[in-house]
Amino acid sequence: MASKSKKLRIRYHNDHFEIEKENNVQQKLDFLPSMISLCSSNYLLQTTLTPMKILNCNAAASVPSSFSKVFCDIEYYGKDSFVFGDAFRTGMDILGDYFIRNIVPKNRQFLSVFEKLLDFIDGDRSVKISDPHRVQNLRDKELAIILSNHLFGKLALTSYFAADKAWSCEDEGQCFCDDENCEMTGVYLDTSIGNVEVWHGCMDIVINNEMPVVVPWEAFSDSSNGNNGGEMKEESVLEGCAQLIAETIVFSFLQRKSHPDRNHFLTPCIGISNSEMVVVLYDAKNDVLLESSPIPLFKDSFSGEFSYTAVLVSWLTVNYKYLCTAVPEHFTNDKSEFFVHAKNKLPMYQENLRFGGVLKNPATNLPRGKLKRHKANSSTSMVEHEKKLMEILWRP
Ligand SMILES: [Zn+2]
Repeated sequence: MASKSKKLRIRYHNDHFEIEKENNVQQKLDFLPSMISLCSSNYLLQTTLTPMKILNCNAAASVPSSFSKVFCDIEYYGKDSFVFGDAFRTGMDILGDYFIRNIVPKNRQFLSVFEKLLDFIDGDRSVKISDPHRVQNLRDKELAIILSNHLFGKLALTSYFAADKAWSCEDEGQCFCDDENCEMTGVYLDTSIGNVEVWHGCMDIVINNEMPVVVPWEAFSDSSNGNNGGEMKEESVLEGCAQLIAETIVFSFLQRKSHPDRNHFLTPCIGISNSEMVVVLYDAKNDVLLESSPIPLFKDSFSGEFSYTAVLVSWLTVNYKYLCTAVPEHFTNDKSEFFVHAKNKLPMYQENLRFGGVLKNPATNLPRGKLKRHKANSSTSMVEHEKKLMEILWRP
């Protein structure tokens, strides 16, 4: 469905750029609690990032594994959790300037990225789904295409995305929402990555050639029985998910090889189920693996309107190339130990992965770790953001 967004007018005023009309006060207030959750150390509010340590995995097994057969047992460095915003300080500074001072970035590239968020906030933040129960019962393919078309793609600099060609169907250009005129901004392609000698397989979705979206098969019950197709099994299914971790690690190594000139190699991947999303990030240089707390996708169970936190986290994540600021210094000693477990085949991960033309294999059972939640920490800059945002929220 076409967005109802209006072109925002930006003016130069007192040595900075700002939104011309302050007509979005209510929108800002609506988003404020979600913005605060990205930088708050308050246990009840926060959206966190927690480092993970791999205890055992089949990354270097003598019989190479596809993503659907990945084994990866992990534990969390639970006491070292930090707020989500700490890995995206550039993005958080842009959001802070906007929410606190109504200022937009001077830098043209940052401004283009930020306008994507402003247009989204100002436009239609929901998916048209006529039957309220359908939101919770979308099948994996439907969910991935709808979210890429209506959320992730809209927040990225270009709305192009690639979907696994195994999903292609007769009506290739059609979205799966209930707007019959809604067309896909992506195409079905070979999305295979990796190397048949190590972890490999097809990504479900790749946004703008830069960020994968994974719908772990275990997030959905067996769709072949025709009874509960697409129904989510349990809420925490994305936490410690081996398939999601493996795809993030392989994609991060590929990004490091493809873009050796980047300032850092912390690369995210979004995992989705019917009701929530989780962001997993891996730094293929420093061997640090991070997982976000689960974030509700929708504002409620039936409306098809995206939650404010999902919008902000998606914007930060799909634009990580501009908004992510490397592994926060407090995580650098929390190694995932992938380098240790994959030691025998590490050169393969570092030098011989490819995008496209890689074979894939069928699914099997996946193990996953459990996180005992601790209060997350917050850096000085995030505390400062939280303080100022709280002042706005509670202003009489
Ligand atoms: Zn649609």
